Amino acid sequence: MTLDKVIGVDLGGTNIRVAVLSADGTMSHTARTKTKSEEGPEAVIRRIAALIDDVAADANLSPDAPVGVASPGPLNPRTGVVHFTPNLPGWRDVAIVDQLEGHLNRRVTLANDGNCATLGEMRFGIAQGKHNIVYLALGTGIGGGVVTEGVLIDGKNGLGAEIGHTLVSIDGPRCNCGSIGCLEAYAAGWAIQAEAMKVATTADGDRLVELAAGGLIHAGIVAKAAAEGHLASVAILERAGRALGAAIGSFINMFDPEIIVIGGGVAALGELLMGPARKMIPQYSFVDMRTDVPVVYSQLGGDTGLYGAGALAFMMFDD
Ligand SMILES: [Zn+2]
Repeated sequence: MTLDKVIGVDLGGTNIRVAVLSADGTMSHTARTKTKSEEGPEAVIRRIAALIDDVAADANLSPDAPVGVASPGPLNPRTGVVHFTPNLPGWRDVAIVDQLEGHLNRRVTLANDGNCATLGEMRFGIAQGKHNIVYLALGTGIGGGVVTEGVLIDGKNGLGAEIGHTLVSIDGPRCNCGSIGCLEAYAAGWAIQAEAMKVATTADGDRLVELAAGGLIHAGIVAKAAAEGHLASVAILERAGRALGAAIGSFINMFDPEIIVIGGGVAALGELLMGPARKMIPQYSFVDMRTDVPVVYSQLGGDTGLYGAGALAFMMFDD
């Protein structure tokens, strides 16, 4: 039976969003509620189930319409268990798929948000029609995913591919994951912010302090200062961009992609970050492999998680 509608769930640290996705990419019946992860996993899962029931009733969906859940990882999509995630405090080995199926008379599937977003780009986004894709979500951290010949590459337990933790320097800065010299430790929102906060304690950082106006100095402030020509900010984004370009060069060599898609909030820094990255790619990739590989921005915006969760459900349940 060909599916025509699925339900996508975007589980985040702050909000839970639910929507109906049609096979043609139409999104409807979007709804949201606060995650309130401090109430514990069972309460959160009950709230997700209630929101799904509301949306399904509004959209008059049959019980055949399955549910795809995009969640922060690490998680095991084969067993439907979220192991641990800093975004959802108190979650440890939570069997979210079994619990949701217990509340709902529907099939449920789960994948991490980076892999879901990659599937979303392939089915509904800028990578439509492509079968070899590298997707990078540049946010507070760096996630992403890899599709080769139409198949998501996620390893034996579905924990891969953590491409944000690709090594770009063995002597680099310590990453939040505990490793050293990861791409994330250079180009994630938190890494750009950490650099900026160091600069802000010096005379070179006066403009950053002014722009923050008493608030946090974050990557957006750095971008604003860099756009004005503030040299220290330009240098911070160049450093991040060079690491990004080196990693993208490696991805080209490893996966021979047709397209590289850049998403996530930090992607809004645009060419201030991507310009230096684009310059580096040729130094770190084979010429025959990098030729004609576009590096493009995602167009799915804040709905990436919902499109991704929907794409996951179509992939898993569409016979
Ligand atoms: Zn790391």
